[in-house]
Amino acid sequence: MTDIDKRLAEIRERVEAATPGPWQYRETVFGARSTTVMAGSTQVGYFSVGQAMPTDAKFIAHSRSDIPFLLAELDKRQAAIDAVHRPHFEKTFGYDICVGCSAQWPCPTVQAVHTALEGGGA
Ligand SMILES: [Zn+2]
Repeated sequence: MTDIDKRLAEIRERVEAATPGPWQYRETVFGARSTTVMAGSTQVGYFSVGQAMPTDAKFIAHSRSDIPFLLAELDKRQAAIDAVHRPHFEKTFGYDICVGCSAQWPCPTVQAVHTALEGGGA
């Protein structure tokens, strides 16, 4: 398991453990301005404006839906990468030739995937 896989697993665990969403942001005034994050009628968090800006409370509230959305999109994109990458994953036995495209191993497809995943470019 790579460091990225480990981090993604930790994020997924936190998503699963959190109060189900969607959450929403409410600004309230009880003597001083404050913000709350609600899951239905349940208060998930309370923030004094002095401790957290309303934009932070909005970010927290939306994270309950945004993070699962991003994880689902990440899974779809990983599946697409795997589908493209899989035929190019092996080289011909005894030769440095890609099984998927017959180019010199590692072929341009494998190089592009590895470069993108390692942050080296598109
Ligand atoms: Zn190839």
